[in-house]
Amino acid sequence: MRILVVEDEERIADFVNRGLGSAGYEVELAQDGQTALEKIHAVDYDLVILDLMLPDMDGLAVLEKARNRKVSPPVLILSAKGEVDDRVTGLEKGADDYLVKPFAFVELLARVRALIRRGQPSVEKLVIGDLTLDCIRRKVSRGGDSIDLAPKEFSILEYLMRNRGRPLSRTMIVEHVWDMEYDGLTNIVDVYIRHLRSKIDDKYPTKLIHTVRGIGYMLDTTAKTVEPGER
Ligand code: CA
Repeated sequence: MRILVVEDEERIADFVNRGLGSAGYEVELAQDGQTALEKIHAVDYDLVILDLMLPDMDGLAVLEKARNRKVSPPVLILSAKGEVDDRVTGLEKGADDYLVKPFAFVELLARVRALIRRGQPSVEKLVIGDLTLDCIRRKVSRGGDSIDLAPKEFSILEYLMRNRGRPLSRTMIVEHVWDMEYDGLTNIVDVYIRHLRSKIDDKYPTKLIHTVRGIGYMLDTTAKTVEPGER
């Protein structure tokens, strides 16, 4: 994963460079807009972290020019200009996210990870056994029978399928599917799993959704769990 950091302030460039480097990213630096554009045109970066106040040009101009390329990397604006207007302008001009200085490194890292993840080509179809989930058309079928799922049921199933063989806790499922912390309301997961089972498992001899005692649920053709790192 290659990240270009466009920043003229050496102290910040160094801090970001070292932090992202130790998080496993390959980092390149550009101290001005012109160098940044040359690099963006020459290399396919997975992410560009862009300061707005550069010595030779406005970071927004870099953003606009970078966006004229056919394939342009996601851009995270990093700037001391915390005004709402600047944020809006940055996002309108095509930035993917905006972080105001000063910032905590963990915050930057979380956003970097999210942006890079978003940029990954996502798998269009998930297939486990005879169960198929089409992520684009949002259709599910098993053994050739098409199955109607409610939106939350679909999201839970997709999450389970993407993590095939890994037990997922109720809390993880709630936080992923409802996008919020739902402590104490994790029973709702059991309710949805019951609905899902009645639609995708009950009629079929091979059960795909397994209850993992003390943890939550897992989807696979067998009930054997996979430890993280095993695949
Ligand atoms: Ca600057």
